[in-house]
Amino acid sequence: MTDSRTDSFSQLQLAEPLSRAVAEMGYESMTPIQEQAIPVVLQGRDVMGAAQTGTGKTAAFSLPLLQRMMKHENSSTSPARHPVRALVLLPTRELADQVAQQVKLYAKYTNLRSAVVFGGMDMKPQTLELKKGVEVLVATPGRLLDHIEAKNAVLNQVEYVVLDEADRMLDIGFLPDLQRILSYLPKQRTTLLFSATFSPEIKRLASSYLQDPVTIEVARSNATASTVEQHFYSVGDDDKRRALHQILKQRGMKQAFVFVNSKLGCARLARSLEREGLKTTALHGDKSQDERLKALDAFKKGEVDLLVCTDVAARGLDIKDVPAVFNFDVPFNAEDYVHRIGRTGRAGASGLAVSFVSGKDARLVADIEKLIKTKIELEAVEFEEDTPRIREQGRINDGRRAWREAGEVGDTRDELAPPREARAPRREHSRPAAPRDPFFDKPYEAPAAEAKPAWETDAKGTAPRGISANIKPKKKVAALFTTTAS
Ligand code: AMP
Repeated sequence: MTDSRTDSFSQLQLAEPLSRAVAEMGYESMTPIQEQAIPVVLQGRDVMGAAQTGTGKTAAFSLPLLQRMMKHENSSTSPARHPVRALVLLPTRELADQVAQQVKLYAKYTNLRSAVVFGGMDMKPQTLELKKGVEVLVATPGRLLDHIEAKNAVLNQVEYVVLDEADRMLDIGFLPDLQRILSYLPKQRTTLLFSATFSPEIKRLASSYLQDPVTIEVARSNATASTVEQHFYSVGDDDKRRALHQILKQRGMKQAFVFVNSKLGCARLARSLEREGLKTTALHGDKSQDERLKALDAFKKGEVDLLVCTDVAARGLDIKDVPAVFNFDVPFNAEDYVHRIGRTGRAGASGLAVSFVSGKDARLVADIEKLIKTKIELEAVEFEEDTPRIREQGRINDGRRAWREAGEVGDTRDELAPPREARAPRREHSRPAAPRDPFFDKPYEAPAAEAKPAWETDAKGTAPRGISANIKPKKKVAALFTTTAS
């Protein structure tokens, strides 16, 4: 979210239950996407919107849709009086869950009901909810089709459809599922499509399913927040951890996200950093629900300084005030760069995004440069003399490492879009169940305790057992990195 909110919700004359809910959320003025989209949706026009998670997009479509549905609002217990009128489709369970939570909050003082269905969960509770009747159904495509086939969801009274994160849905291979779902819907309807980019595929989708849409592009669709200071350092793979230590120390950073490209790399890096005295935890798709919840909780409480994560953790996370994001690995998809660094510098706060670029990343960096339309200057890392080299424990850099890591990445990367040629239609219920993270629903809050980060507390060499004495901070020295905002 940016701080460029200029307009007030009161001008919209929303129904009292909706404005009460908005007031309760603490929203004072509309975000740019809300300012532009809400009046258009209130008029019943189709919308093609370039906006990403974090821009206030959910309220931009849910509030006007709820407002339009208020004429159907009733307190009857009969399911027939609560047919599905609005369908919101999203690519992942985390996003579906997050959007559904928000819709529930906006609708909480109305009699309009909402529900969410996504794969990897038992269908029975979802079926029971659907059978009771819901006006707003938030869903991932595959599971929705299951419910349609089982006749749990009847969509012949749908008046509004939202295709959210449409580019991502196409990336995942949901196009055939989307086409089938849309074929069940009445032709006479309002359709809203939101996408981070307007690729030719998205434009084709829009021209097939939207009628005379109003195009809304609030900020550059691939823009990074101006509040985020971005740096790209040229660092060899073996020096990345050393650079990470140095920057954390120099900046006095308390908490940060560290992104890597593979699950295996994630677990390994978290282990290494932990050994080196940083309170670290790993978050990736292979973690059990319990482990993920514990990791997130520990980070939120400030018991953990670094959250090492794969992109699965980046999508749709609604968190505030994470001071820094490190791209330990440059992401394979340039869009993921924008998503990753969107974890910091939110709500107008300032943030730091540091990317470590090794020789093999030139093409990935060029992709990012193209996407964010900003020239990327690679900076050199000048290590402080007393920032010791960190040795790989039990590993010999025998020249085969790069090859080995490339193989690992290919096998284990987390939730990355498959290569274009491999994008066969995929149903999300065939994927292994990812646990539900309440963390995705709540804003990040900085820990109450002003605990010193691990790298600040050990000046006397009292490193915990098992930590290399090498990485002990020795003395404060002048900052070596440039701090020019990009
Ligand atoms: P979204 O882009 O819909 O995922 O929203 C990102 C975050 O912004 C959510 O936590 C919303 O609750 C919050 N938000 C949405 N609209 C506003 C607003 N007008 N003012 C302040 N916060 C908002």
